[in-house]
Amino acid sequence: MSRRKGDGFICLVMEKTYLMTCEQCGGELASFRQGSAQGVKCTRCGWSVVTTNIQGIKVDETKYEVRCHGDYQDKAHIRAVSEVTGSNFLTSRNMLQKGLVLVFVGEAEEVLRVRTILVSAGVVCEITPDFNWV
Ligand SMILES: [Zn+2]
Repeated sequence: MSRRKGDGFICLVMEKTYLMTCEQCGGELASFRQGSAQGVKCTRCGWSVVTTNIQGIKVDETKYEVRCHGDYQDKAHIRAVSEVTGSNFLTSRNMLQKGLVLVFVGEAEEVLRVRTILVSAGVVCEITPDFNWV
């Protein structure tokens, strides 16, 4: 399974949080935070949307580094690294053979996409500094 840029989930949530009036009654929405969940709630009728902490990701300007280690004999792992790095199959396999390897540097949204590709292929990844959007 691979997910590409078109993955609509974040976009959908973002659109909803941009509309700062209630879908149900047109009342004013206020943001709230509860544990790791975050969202908006109508001050009039109590209708709410939970965005699971995703809305702040757009303003997170941290440059994250994604390192991963996988099995260089596992084609799914190689393909995931290839997709993330833009390298060809052989180069990606060589990267995995080296052990923990830096595959991506970028901002939170892209990191989330990259992480999803790697994790869904079964590749273990480490993100520094601490990544709070998962
Ligand atoms: Zn309402």
